[in-house]
Amino acid sequence: MPIINESIVYDEECLAIIAAKKSDPHFTHVNWGDDDLQDLRSKVRNYYRNAQRLTCVYCQERIGVRAAHAAPIEHIVPKSQYLAFIFEPKNLCVICPDCNEYKGKNEVMYEPVIKGPRRVRYPTVSSAFQIVHPHYDDYAAHIMKANRVYIDRTPKGHYTIGVCKLNRFFHYFGACDEFINDAELAEANDLFFSTGTVDTHALIHDAAETQ
Ligand SMILES: [Zn+2]
Repeated sequence: MPIINESIVYDEECLAIIAAKKSDPHFTHVNWGDDDLQDLRSKVRNYYRNAQRLTCVYCQERIGVRAAHAAPIEHIVPKSQYLAFIFEPKNLCVICPDCNEYKGKNEVMYEPVIKGPRRVRYPTVSSAFQIVHPHYDDYAAHIMKANRVYIDRTPKGHYTIGVCKLNRFFHYFGACDEFINDAELAEANDLFFSTGTVDTHALIHDAAETQ
């Protein structure tokens, strides 16, 4: 089941400001930070904090409860590339500051960004996206998380781990006994060795060598 079951439904106040912004011929993605959108941003942030139970959709670690900077609003399809989706409820969620830093403006749809007239309807199917989409995809079907180690199960999982640098913890610190000996990881190892598909020891070794 996707981490987000229901996307935000804007109230009248939000709909009015969205209409006003969209009718402004000078409106760009930079205006997302405008003062008159502060109330809307706050509603979006709080809605998805609740919907996601304070979990980042990419790394599945905790996000901040109160401070706005601890739960940045994520435009899954970057707002700088597809302005048409800047207020699209299914394009929004909250993530942790680290995932926000890493994912940045990376392309997430299979269709390349094109100049001129752009796609105006938000894709409604998972297959349109390279990234694990929190409104459409079951995270566990694509990525296995064992403590701080992320293992791809599908190409989507692989892309998401790469674009958000989910194994950053090991890239930063290298492998250490505290985590290698973790019971959860050992259990994951057993599971994957028994299926004969993934060598987590090799994965940790590789991560340690790239630091
Ligand atoms: Zn994260």
